[in-house]
Amino acid sequence: MSELLRATIFHTPRNPFLSADGLEVFSDGGLAIEAGRVSGCGEFDELRRRFPSAQVRDLRGGFLLPGFVDTHVHYPQVRVLGALGHQLLDWLNQSALPEEVRMRDRDHARCVAGEFLRGLASHGTTTALVFGAHFASAMEVFFEAAVSSGLRITSGLVVSDRMLLPELHVSPQEAYQQNGDLIRRYHKRGVEYAVTPRFALSASEALLEVCQTLMREHPGVRFQTHINENASEIAEVARLFPWAEDYLAVYEKFDLVSDRSVLAHNVHTTDKALARLGAHKASVAHCPSSNASLGSGLFPLRRHIAAGVRVALGTDVGGGTGFGMLKEGLQAYLLQRLAPEGLVLTPAQLLYLATRAGAEALGLANETGDFSEGRSADFVYLRPPERSPLEAVTRNAESAQRVLAALFTLAGSESVVETRVRGQQVYRAEETRSP
Ligand SMILES: [Zn+2]
Repeated sequence: MSELLRATIFHTPRNPFLSADGLEVFSDGGLAIEAGRVSGCGEFDELRRRFPSAQVRDLRGGFLLPGFVDTHVHYPQVRVLGALGHQLLDWLNQSALPEEVRMRDRDHARCVAGEFLRGLASHGTTTALVFGAHFASAMEVFFEAAVSSGLRITSGLVVSDRMLLPELHVSPQEAYQQNGDLIRRYHKRGVEYAVTPRFALSASEALLEVCQTLMREHPGVRFQTHINENASEIAEVARLFPWAEDYLAVYEKFDLVSDRSVLAHNVHTTDKALARLGAHKASVAHCPSSNASLGSGLFPLRRHIAAGVRVALGTDVGGGTGFGMLKEGLQAYLLQRLAPEGLVLTPAQLLYLATRAGAEALGLANETGDFSEGRSADFVYLRPPERSPLEAVTRNAESAQRVLAALFTLAGSESVVETRVRGQQVYRAEETRSP
């Protein structure tokens, strides 16, 4: 049965950093869905004519956006959200890593997996590149929960063989076996796999070589790690790899930087490294809440764009401040206002960074991230809570651009009514909110 949803619709089928008409807005819009795919998106009247037998659902007063794509978010860190007052390395030691050791227990991991996936869906995120846990058993329960959640998840076992807590270390041989086993069991079976060394600091050359072998043996899987987040981390990596020209060169030596790679943070970088990232067609996950919370620094977005590096947003969780991709967009906007040579981001650019840019980074741009015909019906339905400031602004806004800016500024999970992936509901707010 085909469906026609009537609401104000925003999406960015083209990159608004490159094109002045990147944003498409339909104030009285229609989104037609058939068999889990977008069969049309435009003005409601026109869609009504094109799909006369579709069942209309009137959501006027609400907003439909493509489901958010979170390109960097840690599954084991839900319960350490809100640990304020640290910088990266002491936050890892005092807060994140002890919690990650608890993931050894399969039942604990299963609970956290449920909390994590619900955190994504309840904030309108439909697709995520997820930093996994250090334990294969925790990844098994995660992948199983991810498949039944209906969300679009790419993730992998995190591997490290030094410098963390000893319980989190594996030998390169174990890393090879456990990754190979998980790839064979789960990749392309409702989830996708990403080879995931935590960062160069906690990976020996032998372990990075294992990652290289895995990428070569499994050409469909993706790669994720961290880079250039914090000054002390960067100094330590330089000490550990004295032969490397810079941090990026460590990953380059093992062929880990390509169009299949998403590198998180890249706050402190050089124009030379940016040019190489652009040439590799690698993507950077920008996590502004985390960068601010951990005092990591101000992301040089303008230099990334100028070098042709793909950038998308990530919430980081728990280094960040929660699952909200609208909040992450707002935080990107705020930090750019403070950054030297910062860009003044438009609402269209924020929407792109939270949706289509992430789909591009994950190789899913033909599948999700906007409402072009044929895309999977992955979307979030937002509705301002009654008598909220967001409702006051959106009711009286003089333009659709202004409404979109207000959604980024004011809308949190309390405004998410429904989240769908492939046309199927993956989240519905429990309280009654009409319609
Ligand atoms: Zn991270």
